Amino acid sequence: CGVFGVIGVTDAANFVALGLHALQHRGQEAGGIVAHHPDHGFNSARRFGYVRDNFTSHKVMETLPGPLAIGHVRYSTTGSKGNTAIRDVQPFFGEFAMGGAAIAHNGNIVNAEELRRELIGRGSIFQSSSDSECIIHLMARSYQKNIPERMKDALRRVEGAFSIVAMTRTKLIGVRDALGVRPLVLGRIGDGAWVLSSETCALDIIGAEFVREVEPGEMVVINGDGIESYMPFEPRKPRSCIFEHVYFSRPDSILGGQSVYETRRQIGVELAREAPVDADLVCPVPDSGTPAAIGFSQESGIPYAMGIIRNQYMGRTFIEPTEQIRNMGVRLKLNVNRALIRGKRVILVDDSVVRGTTSRKIKEMILDAGAAEVHFRIASPPTAWPCFYGVDTPEREKLLASTMSEEEMRAHLQVDSLRFISLDGLYRAVGEPKGRDARSPQYCDACFSGDYPVRPTDMEAKGFEF
Ligand code: SF4
Ligand code: MG
Repeated sequence: CGVFGVIGVTDAANFVALGLHALQHRGQEAGGIVAHHPDHGFNSARRFGYVRDNFTSHKVMETLPGPLAIGHVRYSTTGSKGNTAIRDVQPFFGEFAMGGAAIAHNGNIVNAEELRRELIGRGSIFQSSSDSECIIHLMARSYQKNIPERMKDALRRVEGAFSIVAMTRTKLIGVRDALGVRPLVLGRIGDGAWVLSSETCALDIIGAEFVREVEPGEMVVINGDGIESYMPFEPRKPRSCIFEHVYFSRPDSILGGQSVYETRRQIGVELAREAPVDADLVCPVPDSGTPAAIGFSQESGIPYAMGIIRNQYMGRTFIEPTEQIRNMGVRLKLNVNRALIRGKRVILVDDSVVRGTTSRKIKEMILDAGAAEVHFRIASPPTAWPCFYGVDTPEREKLLASTMSEEEMRAHLQVDSLRFISLDGLYRAVGEPKGRDARSPQYCDACFSGDYPVRPTDMEAKGFEF
């Protein structure tokens, strides 16, 4: 998901709509905005579909007045998956002591089911099936005297990944869990206005200046007087999501001080060193494989070419929640550039193999177009474990790499060769020259390693073993 918030401008909701549009790649199912105006109170609009289709009309935007607003774009990881109900669309708003609050959450709470049972047992009335709603109820039940303190109380009970943008009637609040799994940055417009955003690319669109990242474990509280910073949680060694660098974030964002594009290009360089192959062309599987393909081509000297053309009117395949749509999605979205491919030995570079659906279809299409050889090079290690921290990977059994070796996957996909970047190679690409420090990894890489930095409590209760 993507989260965004602004304080200190007239009609903050317009800025939020633009910010969410720039974060659309983080979630395409639905979006919502909550705004507050001193005379009109809290107002919200939550809709299915793209930001550009919902939050551009004057009719909608004029219902969201005020100098303070937050928003969310949704990609379901919990709650109603695949058929998002409108009640699961964020931000969530709750009226309770001190005027209430609205929150927008990116991440995933791993003890949400346990918390929900407990809260319902004590009388809370849930409106949605989303894990994020627990936070509002925990805040409403806290005995603390102001909302930021209540939020600290609530979040100390929450396990898992959260980057949160929240608002009260007068304050904009940003929080990141102690590991800093999901990103969150702070920006500024002129002297008086502040912005919180999942990624820096959404600061650029509104002409905001990047100030700094919200630190892992930090809570920032912003009002008319400026910004206060707290560290409410037990400190832990940060382990931000390495997959943000590989796939999730936009290539024009700066993440952890590094250009996402440059990291991806460097992954391609590492791949070309680790798994060279003689061929005629290097082609990306667009768009997610493009920077790595550029790096692969630069390092290997094999010409880069657009062997697969992407229909720009389709969204991200993976984020389509049902298997059926995803299956069709490949052909709706990607087509082979036949004239270029015929008779060629082609290296295809993609960011990841999850279920193998994309790679299998693309291989068929490219052989169909007369390619002489097909070599897959993948810009992440084999995805063998599900993510419980806000990226929607399927159950373990559906992950190709959970049951097959690299050679078995190659045979299954019927390609001439298949190689993944090593975990060490990936760490080198993100700027760790010695690779992964196995005793104290610098990132979360659980979907590749099975090394989960937070115990997936609810899943363990259901029998998940790791
Ligand atoms: Fe990121 Fe993978 Fe960790 Fe999930 S499991 S937070 S996708 S690195
Ligand atoms: Mg892709």
